[in-house]
Amino acid sequence: MYSFASISSFSSLPPSSLAIGRHVLPYPVGEHGIARYTMLHGPRQSRSRHPHHVISVQWRDLLSPHANTSLGRPIRVNINIDQDLKPCVEDERTIKLLKSYAMNGGDGNYSYAQNSSYQRGAVDAAKELIKEGVAAKLFIKQLSSSSSINPFCIADFGCSTGPNTLLAVQVILEAVEQKFKSEKPTAQLPEFQVFFNDHVLNDFNTLFQSLPPERRYRAAGVAGSFYGRVLPKASLHFAFSSSSLCWISELPEEILDSNSPAWNKGRIHYTGARKEVSEAYALQYAKDLEAFLHARAEELVGGGLMALLVPAVPNVMTSSETTIGTEIDLLGSCLMDMAKMGSFSEAKVDSFNLPLYFPPIEELEASIEANTSFSIERMEILNNPPKHVAMPSVRHRTLFFRACFEGLLENHFGSHIMDELFERYSKKVAQSSFTMNPDNDKSIFMLVLLKRKSESSQNDSP
Ligand code: SAH
Repeated sequence: MYSFASISSFSSLPPSSLAIGRHVLPYPVGEHGIARYTMLHGPRQSRSRHPHHVISVQWRDLLSPHANTSLGRPIRVNINIDQDLKPCVEDERTIKLLKSYAMNGGDGNYSYAQNSSYQRGAVDAAKELIKEGVAAKLFIKQLSSSSSINPFCIADFGCSTGPNTLLAVQVILEAVEQKFKSEKPTAQLPEFQVFFNDHVLNDFNTLFQSLPPERRYRAAGVAGSFYGRVLPKASLHFAFSSSSLCWISELPEEILDSNSPAWNKGRIHYTGARKEVSEAYALQYAKDLEAFLHARAEELVGGGLMALLVPAVPNVMTSSETTIGTEIDLLGSCLMDMAKMGSFSEAKVDSFNLPLYFPPIEELEASIEANTSFSIERMEILNNPPKHVAMPSVRHRTLFFRACFEGLLENHFGSHIMDELFERYSKKVAQSSFTMNPDNDKSIFMLVLLKRKSESSQNDSP
């Protein structure tokens, strides 16, 4: 049971209020609850197009009989864009922390658009496999027997600002057109509708400005978390997602709890941390993947296909043995260095964690196999260009991280530390004999091709 306290101004708060970063939060009203208030300041929010964000704070930990003694403990803060999301949220999880970030927008030096060549490599490597998959597994007659295939609907979940999503959509569209022509040579091609999905803070303007003028599809943005449903039931014929199913929907609570063995003190990720920390991440990932598959199963028509390019790690190793693990560790150690020099408190670093998880192949396979709504048509490691090819220099590596993580980091630490942080990071990467050594780059992408079972075949299955 939650009760709510609405506060519209900071000035009226009691002096004993709890402080989180620069923001002062009121004591809660009621016994258990989420206190909500309109945030008037904030490094990122004040620059955003949405001036009134709502922060919800989980107060349960603070409301023990020893509440006063626990005030210094880290607690979870969720930032939501309330008015945009509330009406279409089906699942509480979809309104948590991760609305509050996106990849860097625009097309400037630090933008995702300019610094996503590694992710592009995955799409490039998957092209032929997608074409083959569509040719062999998409049956136009089967689709049209159960649903209208005009328009033929394609969606990219976690599209960011481009350009990779545009490439992926083009590959899918051409493959489907080809299939239509071979299966129904005399029929007219359908119209194509493409839905681009990402968080509400994603820079959809940059994406839409870069749509090719000569495209053969209609484009629409669908904002919201892909861990919930974002499209109508049985409306989609082809679902795609690349480099996105590594972002978990929320941080596991226990990694922020100083009383838990999973408390992730002094680190920003599970790599190199206690096993309880990575177990907590793994659990969250499995729950999220299940939610993702559940939502897509509702949206896809029977016989519809879904191609996922999922960042992962080989079975034999933990993520801390892959370059991504050590790169994130280096970023964490820069933050700790800055805390030690007084730029912010160490507790500030303790309360920051990256919501990213890279599943070992077996774990990924187990989660996919557990879902009964899809048949697995293909699952294999992609032969994408490794990091030292896609991002050959320290500068590339630094910009890759900056483009992806700056939004989250700014929200937590403030924009004023970003230049220093990434300068420090760049130096550490340059000095790391491990990170820039190609032999140590073991991060992989898994291609997963799934087919939505039709309702009748689902009923037949044991
Ligand atoms: N597919 C693109 C972008 C990958 S970056 C490419 O291959 O280049 C990952 C994207 O997933 C980001 O834009 C991020 O905002 C988005 N994302 C992460 N979690 C999400 C969620 N729960 N719902 C929607 N988008 C999400």
